[in-house]
Amino acid sequence: MSDCLFCRIIRNEIPATRVHEDDRMVVIDDINPQAPMHVLVIPKAHIATLNDLNRDHDALLGEMTRRAAAIARERGFADRGFRTVFNTNRDAGQTVFHIHLHALAGRTLAWPPG
Ligand code: 5GP
Ligand code: ZN
Repeated sequence: MSDCLFCRIIRNEIPATRVHEDDRMVVIDDINPQAPMHVLVIPKAHIATLNDLNRDHDALLGEMTRRAAAIARERGFADRGFRTVFNTNRDAGQTVFHIHLHALAGRTLAWPPG
């Protein structure tokens, strides 16, 4: 996906603040943070939405979730709390069609979401 924003960030064609990188994913700071911590856990594989997942992605999604929790713990938010979100398609407000796990922390987050 040559014109996908997150594929371009993964290829270092667009700058981003990298929090973590390994062979399967990158984690970057969100450009428009909604909380004191707001990172995006992005798989290197281009997967457009959660509707496109299959069984082969199960381990990847588990690793992404554990990575989000590890970053929250490193930053001191594990006990106080943090939120992890995948937005899928229009009603959920997905704007970048390459899956990414938002991880937010550092303030009280309202529930239910708006
Ligand atoms: P979505 O709305 O698809 O769930 O989330 C997309 C997220 O990507 C938004 O929180 C938005 O602020 C973030 N974002 C959009 N463009 C960029 C960018 O160029 N760099 C970074 N770091 N984040 C971006
Ligand atoms: Zn992509």
